[in-house]
Amino acid sequence: MNTIIAAVDSGITEEEPNQDLELASEILKKGGLVAFPTETVYGLGGDALNPDASRKIYSAKGRPSDNPLIVHIADETDLQKIAKDIPEAAYKLMDVFWPGPMTMIFHKKPIVPDSTTGGLDTVAVRMPSHNVAYELIRRSGVMIAAPSANTSGRPSPTMASHVREDMEGKIDMIIDGGDCRYGIESTIIDMTGEVPTILRPGYITREMLEDVIGTVEVDPAILGEAAHVRPKAPGMKYTHYAPKGIMYIVEGESSNSVIRCINRMVKERQMAGCKVGVLATRYNAMAYEADEVIVIGDKKDELMISSNLYRTLREFDARGVDYIYSESFAGSSLGTAIMNRLIKAAGHRVIQAPSV
Ligand code: AMP
Ligand code: MG
Repeated sequence: MNTIIAAVDSGITEEEPNQDLELASEILKKGGLVAFPTETVYGLGGDALNPDASRKIYSAKGRPSDNPLIVHIADETDLQKIAKDIPEAAYKLMDVFWPGPMTMIFHKKPIVPDSTTGGLDTVAVRMPSHNVAYELIRRSGVMIAAPSANTSGRPSPTMASHVREDMEGKIDMIIDGGDCRYGIESTIIDMTGEVPTILRPGYITREMLEDVIGTVEVDPAILGEAAHVRPKAPGMKYTHYAPKGIMYIVEGESSNSVIRCINRMVKERQMAGCKVGVLATRYNAMAYEADEVIVIGDKKDELMISSNLYRTLREFDARGVDYIYSESFAGSSLGTAIMNRLIKAAGHRVIQAPSV
């Protein structure tokens, strides 16, 4: 399949005509697939109400069919068409966080095909704030089912070049709208239970949600603290987000202890003939003696770290490292979301550095 590549300025306004968005709209209406930028990561979009389109999405990604898709809308009135029993709290959250990186789960109406929801009787819905995503949904009049536009198991794409790596030749069109601002997927919050529950952490934190609606719970499966607990978001059970090299996260009391521990392990791997990478924060980077040291950002700037995370993991793939040792970024609220992705990328391999 020939994949059309088109660039659309992220500053596009409602009035501005755009031929590429027109073409993308036609493709969506005919059941084809278009990858597009959002403020979180790039999405692989198809018509959410067309079962053929969602089947094509699973096939292009190689995604297990029990892993449901998020439906992207551009108008709150579309929510009533696909979801029922919408609680008052959901409207409060929408007022504050939509459009934006928050996905809510509701009971679904029959119009939503089972193939879009992975057979569940609930549907995940989000209204993205990225102009290009928003305009694509609005202009096409199509509610767009879209998971991240990566091959299943690889780090999510945060740049159009990542989407091309994974999807060129497999889908109809890729819209390049520049780099994604947040770089990690949306916060998912289940609104179907007694107490709203976070199923996947993201930029919108528990504290931010609680400020608006009071008590919010967190699925214990998050951060893998309870390995035996089955996550409520089916997608959270897969190793996913993983780079090709084997990754370890190193935690420690101080930067010195972490640096010393990582350098020792790097040396051991190198002596065994392996190529080794380190994922470092800016001020520590100079201290590492690895083959490839990639700086993810300043330790204090969590938004920078989240927006660089997947790009950095893909960069290690490109440089062909066998092992990756990463510093830990636990800490405040966005740190929870970052660590959730990083721990998955590392397949839960976390090492405690001995104190120095
Ligand atoms: P992605 O768009 O690739 O980030 O994947 C969508 C995520 O949303 C996956 O982790 C899904 O398991 C989750 N998800 C989508 N719909 C539902 C739903 N109805 N209930 C629970 N989780 C969902
Ligand atoms: Mg994904």
